[in-house]
Amino acid sequence: MNNHSSYFLITYGCQMNESDSEAVAGDLAARGWQAASREADADAILVNTCVVRRSAEQRALGRIWQLAPLKKARPDLLIGILGCLAQKDGQALLKRYPHVDFVVGTRDLPKIGTLLGEIRQTRERVVCIEDIDKPMSFTAEPLRQNSLKTRVTIMYGCNNGCSYCIVPATRGREWSRPAADVVAEVRGLAERGWREVMLLGQNVNSYHEGSHDFAGLLRLVAGVEGIERIRYVTSHPKDLSDRLIETVAETPAICENFHLPAQAGGDRVLARMNRGYGQADYLRLTEKIRRAIPNAAISTDLMVGFPGETEEDFQGTLELARAVRWDSAFTFIYSTREGTPAAAWPDDVPPAVKKERLQRLIEVQEKISTEINEAMVGSRQKVLVEGPSRRSNEMLMGRTRGDKVVILAGKSSLIGQTVALKITRGTAYTLFGEKVNHDG
Ligand code: SAM
Ligand code: SF4
Repeated sequence: MNNHSSYFLITYGCQMNESDSEAVAGDLAARGWQAASREADADAILVNTCVVRRSAEQRALGRIWQLAPLKKARPDLLIGILGCLAQKDGQALLKRYPHVDFVVGTRDLPKIGTLLGEIRQTRERVVCIEDIDKPMSFTAEPLRQNSLKTRVTIMYGCNNGCSYCIVPATRGREWSRPAADVVAEVRGLAERGWREVMLLGQNVNSYHEGSHDFAGLLRLVAGVEGIERIRYVTSHPKDLSDRLIETVAETPAICENFHLPAQAGGDRVLARMNRGYGQADYLRLTEKIRRAIPNAAISTDLMVGFPGETEEDFQGTLELARAVRWDSAFTFIYSTREGTPAAAWPDDVPPAVKKERLQRLIEVQEKISTEINEAMVGSRQKVLVEGPSRRSNEMLMGRTRGDKVVILAGKSSLIGQTVALKITRGTAYTLFGEKVNHDG
């Protein structure tokens, strides 16, 4: 391979995909590939895909189609589909997209560097999706986008059978990385200046390796000097242990921030989703968290329009929202995913009803988020300043320990620092604050 080969990597989907893409970029960099600034200049274009909802899949497919003219103009260009779509559709993608050269599944990503080298020689089209249930590790350092906070994958795959979810099919059986590897990676990050890590897994609460459970792993990671903030996603409510709550309560480096997807609030829908808890269990869990950690920020994921969801079922979701009072919620319209158990049930909530329920849910949640954030006005918060605000170059943005975005005035020299702020205003999605002296 010549030393000037370049790649352009496009990423769709969740934090796990972002993290996989950084790992792929690291592997390519270690082999001499450079990142191209535009796809038109690249020798290889890689599309890392998401299929969790139909809309995400369609976005990725649309982008893949758009690459066809580039391939026509430059037949030497290599185009690859990576990740969840690759794992789901494999060989069929080569048939449907004649301009695509290779398809690499979720756990075969560490092979990409080698594969690209081979494909350049042989010009053969390749499908590599065999390692779905195997342990996974990259040898090179990921090429991390952010130099202040970053993600560390602690486990791959998922053993849960949520009836709507395609992830177990695209990411395989659960496998936990050795705790020693995770700690070594975090130590390396701390030594090179990273301040915040986000531990990633589909259900971090089922992490287990040797004698280490997730709470044990968190304690080990918290022992790494220099890491100021530790976060983790995602916690499945059915597996969240008392030991985890105690660990978060007792360990200053672990942010008091719980992302706990409820998905729905009505018992009938929760049972059909196969979530393993009911409305009362979920509520009890959040009450337990708040008793132990009164300032805990709790967020969630919610879906509307699950097959058979009646107005009464939906009222259960609104009821749970009003009872729990989440700090924030990601809200989605249910989308049928072929091959999942729920796909066998008619998708019988009309699209207009789904949209209307989503709207009502967002309204209820926005009101709650606004009330919670307004009640924070006057409070002191420790904020890690991350960079310029998106809306104005004169303002900075940072996050509280509860992961809320805060806008503040200040010089760019504050970026990377943890500052004490007094909150002056709160809206549904944003807080505003001003700097105070530590003792002020
Ligand atoms: N493992 C995590 C969990 O259990 O919460 C996240 C999995 S998924 C990548 C992120 C979110 O997408 C889920 O929490 C769920 O709300 C949503 N989701 C999953 N399948 C979906 C579907 N078929 N239609 C709509 N939303 C879906
Ligand atoms: Fe999907 Fe459920 Fe696994 Fe999350 S826990 S990835 S929603 S099957």
